[in-house]
Amino acid sequence: MLIALFILSTIPLPFCTSTIFNQFVNCISNTTSANLSQILLTPNDTSYSTILQSSIQNLRFDTPTTPKPLAIITPLSYSHVQSTVICTVQFGLNIRTRSGGHDYEGLSYTSLHNIPFIILDLNQLRSISVDSKANTAWVESGATLGELSYWVSKKNNLFGFPAGECTSVGVGGQISGGGFGMMARKYGLSADNVIDARVVDVNGRILDRDSMGEDLFWAIRGGGGASFGVVVSWKINLVYVPPIVTVFSLSKTIEGGTQLINKWQHIAHNVTHDLFINLVITPVQLTFNSLFLGTADDLVKTVGDEFPELGLEKKDCIEMSWIESVVYHSVNLRGESIEALVERRPMPKAYFKVKSDYVKKVIPEEALEEILKWDLDLGTNCNAWGTSYGQGMRWGRRYFKGNFKRLAMVKGVVDPTNFFWNEQSIPPLVLSSSY
Ligand SMILES: Cc1cc2nc3c(=O)[nH]c(=O)nc-3n(C[C@H](O)[C@H](O)[C@H](O)COP(=O)(O)OP(=O)(O)OC[C@H]3O[C@@H](n4cnc5c(N)ncnc54)[C@H](O)[C@@H]3O)c2cc1C
Repeated sequence: MLIALFILSTIPLPFCTSTIFNQFVNCISNTTSANLSQILLTPNDTSYSTILQSSIQNLRFDTPTTPKPLAIITPLSYSHVQSTVICTVQFGLNIRTRSGGHDYEGLSYTSLHNIPFIILDLNQLRSISVDSKANTAWVESGATLGELSYWVSKKNNLFGFPAGECTSVGVGGQISGGGFGMMARKYGLSADNVIDARVVDVNGRILDRDSMGEDLFWAIRGGGGASFGVVVSWKINLVYVPPIVTVFSLSKTIEGGTQLINKWQHIAHNVTHDLFINLVITPVQLTFNSLFLGTADDLVKTVGDEFPELGLEKKDCIEMSWIESVVYHSVNLRGESIEALVERRPMPKAYFKVKSDYVKKVIPEEALEEILKWDLDLGTNCNAWGTSYGQGMRWGRRYFKGNFKRLAMVKGVVDPTNFFWNEQSIPPLVLSSSY
């Protein structure tokens, strides 16, 4: 008989004293060849706060009362990542892996609970190497999406990669969480284009696709990396982009908005996959932003044939290279040169709460009316929508649906003691046989 055991996501509460922390630092020192000051920062270091805040995007988790890490480790090599995992396991500390710091709930750099934790910040592991013969690239998790797009396109302007629009997002969080962007209709998610990866597991070993096996390789492509290990690099397939693509950003008044959205959702699935349109709704207007993998003439014809209600004209369209379109669609960079993608300058930050949904059925017109009204209300009542995500298993099932059990089983195999725990991680499902 098979017995399924869920180790409920209990919060590890290690007994942490300064002695344990000192032993942890000694462990790091003994197991790496690096000068400690190059890779380990404690609150006594002057640059601790700067590094901590450097990639925090959500100001809700950058306050004086936000729980802070005992240390920030900034590895320069994979062996530093291995040492960090081995020593944090040995001394019972919690680990938060951070690539680009865009986690909506700040879970890559803080904890909601008062537990001793360290941040493993992969900011310095960001190399990108493109193999233009094989149309593939190895990219380290600490690279940003902007850097990845820039270097891929630099190697060959007919290469691209389907990733999200926000170019400061980190490769590590983006690919392990899925990755949805302007080429998703044509090429799927970022995670769909991964062909290999290197993961440091709970035992400090570096595993590749062969040695980790297909279950773990499946889990880290959409199930979130933080539950399973530290993904240090990814091998990706590059996709073809034409020399000229076309973009537009067309704003419409809210009045009549529901009819427009309604029409789009009825026809979108039949329209060429070269066309992607996203819609941003604000209390005053609707803005349709688009990427078309082709020329302006072809775009105007396609939209004219399929979606004439949008009223798109050639003067609304701008032809450019794909890499220029990446800059165009990155809200904070629009109008700048493509070099802005690799500048790593500080981006505007905000206080935010985000909820997403993936809709497979047409949203009825009345519901669209409600959504538009709700958006208007939101302008005046931001506090209306806060969600408690500490709902453990219920949250997991709602988020991962039919994949949740398989993810929990993978977790049960690769991390049965739940070392890689955070407030939204997958709990281990351990299957044991008994007679
Ligand atoms: C302003 C903004 C715009 C966004 N736009 C898009 C978009 O257009 N499309 C889209 O798909 N998403 C978008 N996102 C969501 C974003 O892709 C996810 O939040 C993603 O997880 C962030 O990755 P990161 O590396 O920047 O974040 P991090 O905060 O560093 O990491 C996010 C999560 O992944 C884990 N993680 C990070 N690196 C690793 C690693 N190497 N190994 C294991 N676990 C790791 C972290 O521990 C954390 O749980 C956006 C987010 C923001 C804040």
